[in-house]
Amino acid sequence: MSFAEISSIGEFGLIERIRRAAPSAASLRVGIGDDCAAQAPVPAELLLTTTDMLIEEVHFRRAWTDLHRLGRKSVSVNISDIAAMGGAPKTLFLALGLPSAMTVAEVDEFAAGFLEAAAEYGAVLAGGDTCRSPGPLLICVTAQGAVPEMQLVSRAGAREGEAVYVSGTLGDSALALRMLQKGQTPCAAIAGRHHDPRARTELGRALAEGGIASAMIDVSDGLLADLGHILKASGVGALLDEESLPLSSSFREAFVADPEVLQLALSGGEDYELLFCTPPHKEGEIAALSAALSLPLTRIGEIRPPSEGFSLRHRDGSSRPVGSKGFSHFNAG
Ligand SMILES: [Mg+2]
Repeated sequence: MSFAEISSIGEFGLIERIRRAAPSAASLRVGIGDDCAAQAPVPAELLLTTTDMLIEEVHFRRAWTDLHRLGRKSVSVNISDIAAMGGAPKTLFLALGLPSAMTVAEVDEFAAGFLEAAAEYGAVLAGGDTCRSPGPLLICVTAQGAVPEMQLVSRAGAREGEAVYVSGTLGDSALALRMLQKGQTPCAAIAGRHHDPRARTELGRALAEGGIASAMIDVSDGLLADLGHILKASGVGALLDEESLPLSSSFREAFVADPEVLQLALSGGEDYELLFCTPPHKEGEIAALSAALSLPLTRIGEIRPPSEGFSLRHRDGSSRPVGSKGFSHFNAG
């Protein structure tokens, strides 16, 4: 069982297998199987498009995850970017570079995870490409979503005096990765955050629709780096409060054993939580939203004048600048 098997059904056979498993949507006039997907534009809506590449041994290891969860993750990490602009996901495009040892059953397992996650987010697979890879497994996903024109939330809208919030908990994914790298086995809750993260699509839409978020980003590079992106785009500074970082019970246990672990919540990355800024008077709306979605939304800092830069207040009350390069400066310090 090898690429010879994939070759025997051929590229068109493989695409046909995936097409049969993939549902379509009314908005999709033409989906998988023609030269292009065709969709009717919706008046007064903006089309959001994002793309992400996952490369074996760079972004994932087959020994640490299974193909079903990898399929799910490749969808979630893209849709997270749609959520971060306040959009609703619509269509996905999938390009695969398949190593010679990969079997049809393995492609099916990946596709099943991919399509399962897509359905959970209300998105459909509308096209893609497959080819042979002489080396690693290559997964390139493009996601498209839509947002009413007046509700688009970019990184550039943060204003002095606003509060900085983040959803969920931070550092779990990076903690799982660090444990795997050390040959340890992370508990299911932590491992799940790394291998099968959840894009916060409902939260992103609610924050946009309610006019609550002035600026937003998903936490993929790490809290400090991603808040740094908002500050740069908005031309403002911020004071972040280390004490208020939302941490899971598993993360707290690790933190008690080794305080250095806190770095992972600040700069670890791959949390796929939403980081957003909001005027202080929206506090009540945020509490209601948190209850409605059963998702913690935690105030972790404040937007400051640009002259104050970006600084972090430590647990002992002292503050220090994060630096213009965000997390890399922080790590060097
Ligand atoms: Mg992003």
